[in-house]
Amino acid sequence: MITGKNYIGNELSSIGSDTYKTFDPKLNLETEWTFYEATKEEINKAVGKAHEAFQTYKNFSGAKKAEFLEAIAEEIEALGDELIRAYCKESGLPEGRAVGERGRTMGQLRAFAQLLKEGSWVEATIDTAQPDRQPMAKTDLRKMLLPIGPIAVFGSSNFPFAFSTAGGDTASALASGCPVIVKSHPMHAGTGELVSSAVIKAAERTGMPDGIFSNLNSSGIEVGQQLVLHPKVKGVGFTGSIKGGTALYKLANERKEPIPVFAEMGSINPVVVLPSALREKGQDWAKQYASSVMMGAGQFCTNPGLILGIKSTSLDVFINALGEEIDKLEPSCMLHPNIYNNYEKGKKELSGQGGADVVAEYEKVVAPNYAKQKVLTVNGANFLKNPKLHQEVFGPFSIVVRCADSKELTEVLNRLEGQLTGTVLGSPDELKVHSSAVDALKGRVGRLIFNGVPTGVEVCPSMQHGGPFPASTDSRFTSVGVSAVKRWVRPVSFQNWPQELLPEELQDGNPLAIMRIVDSEHTNKKIE
Ligand code: NAP
Repeated sequence: MITGKNYIGNELSSIGSDTYKTFDPKLNLETEWTFYEATKEEINKAVGKAHEAFQTYKNFSGAKKAEFLEAIAEEIEALGDELIRAYCKESGLPEGRAVGERGRTMGQLRAFAQLLKEGSWVEATIDTAQPDRQPMAKTDLRKMLLPIGPIAVFGSSNFPFAFSTAGGDTASALASGCPVIVKSHPMHAGTGELVSSAVIKAAERTGMPDGIFSNLNSSGIEVGQQLVLHPKVKGVGFTGSIKGGTALYKLANERKEPIPVFAEMGSINPVVVLPSALREKGQDWAKQYASSVMMGAGQFCTNPGLILGIKSTSLDVFINALGEEIDKLEPSCMLHPNIYNNYEKGKKELSGQGGADVVAEYEKVVAPNYAKQKVLTVNGANFLKNPKLHQEVFGPFSIVVRCADSKELTEVLNRLEGQLTGTVLGSPDELKVHSSAVDALKGRVGRLIFNGVPTGVEVCPSMQHGGPFPASTDSRFTSVGVSAVKRWVRPVSFQNWPQELLPEELQDGNPLAIMRIVDSEHTNKKIE
């Protein structure tokens, strides 16, 4: 049941008097649920409890933490249709998407549980002592990754499950040994509360300390700011706008003790279409890209917002085909009137830039909050001199840039801001012919795709979801896949430390039988 209250650890709390409601974008009406804005007192209590919980949770075994993560997945599933209904009502997204995203969320939790059970992720590295080494004896040194402390997680608007309450940031932080305080996304606070109830049930069932998880409601930026500034919060996970992510990043760096902010923000995901792709599969790519731009009303961080080609008749044919294909598709409902209004504003702003011509624009009447798709085209010179055209328009929108030649294409790619993905359509031989352009693309993105579409992010260990700024605040890390756990840990060395007081991962007997590096060798053997 949705109560509108905040979860301060295991306790449901509603001491504040300010409230807000969520919105059903399909009905274009507020939902029946009312949410209590978290107060300063509740924020302090949640962080205080998280700090206390950390003192015990950080020492729990991988197996015990894995049991907790698996229990969260089970409890989410046990919420059944009530959860799916809340998700669809608060997001306007269809049931199939809700069910798929719930599956992905449970899969993520279970993947982290698997990682913990296997155990080698802590990167245990041991250099045994050499007392007889000349000219100086070498001491015993042992290093592993340890959790940093309570993490504030900001739920995203566009993935109410997979990048929100119990999404990738929360699952990875809990896996690392860090408690989590979620600042619930105001657009889907009801969905967030239901998922939180599942996390709390799982925590109680598996004997986790009170405060391991809290969920704070708020429709403004103050609660998030207070969380980021709280001295006992030690890291931040965020998915959303460049404006929001950079504001929080700045705030965290101005603290007396600065803390890391892992923000996944804007990306227009450039796609380079080389001549053979246009010649041999132009029509097919036009169809696939029309669907990719439209997927989820364009509300994906990997949406292809920029398509680049070299001027030719076949590029013109492709542009026309893309326009025709995208015109055939029906608009769908956006997440919220605010997102819809931002989309309309961004679309208008970019359409008014010098040299931008319309390729396609859906013109029929649609229901409120439904996003009408649009595709523009400009030449390379205009794109180079106008950074406004590089801006993300969050929705079913894309720009095709007609570059004069491979040199201009390379220049455009070199001047692009950091991106989550970069795609090349063509033949392997063309990758060699246009190696400067491909190299420029590699320098700007976190994931390179050959002959595919950027939408669809596989959750697996080799996935990289993050890229140079502003795609994310730290391109060395990913927010998708089990490596995401690395954001919430730091390496600690134990020098000449008593055996029995070392973490099990570093003890001579290797009781967890994990892979370690011992005296520069990868091994899971004991040290005799
Ligand atoms: P957002 O405005 O960045 O908000 C995300 C979360 O951060 C919300 O909980 C928000 O709180 C909070 N927040 C934002 N600015 C803050 C600040 N200065 N200080 C403290 N907290 C702050 O993103 P959104 O609501 O999800 O969507 C808005 C726009 O973001 C979209 O139109 C789109 O352009 C972009 N977006 C991009 C991606 C992507 O993957 N590239 C994904 C989602 C959204 P409040 O809402 O309570 O203020």
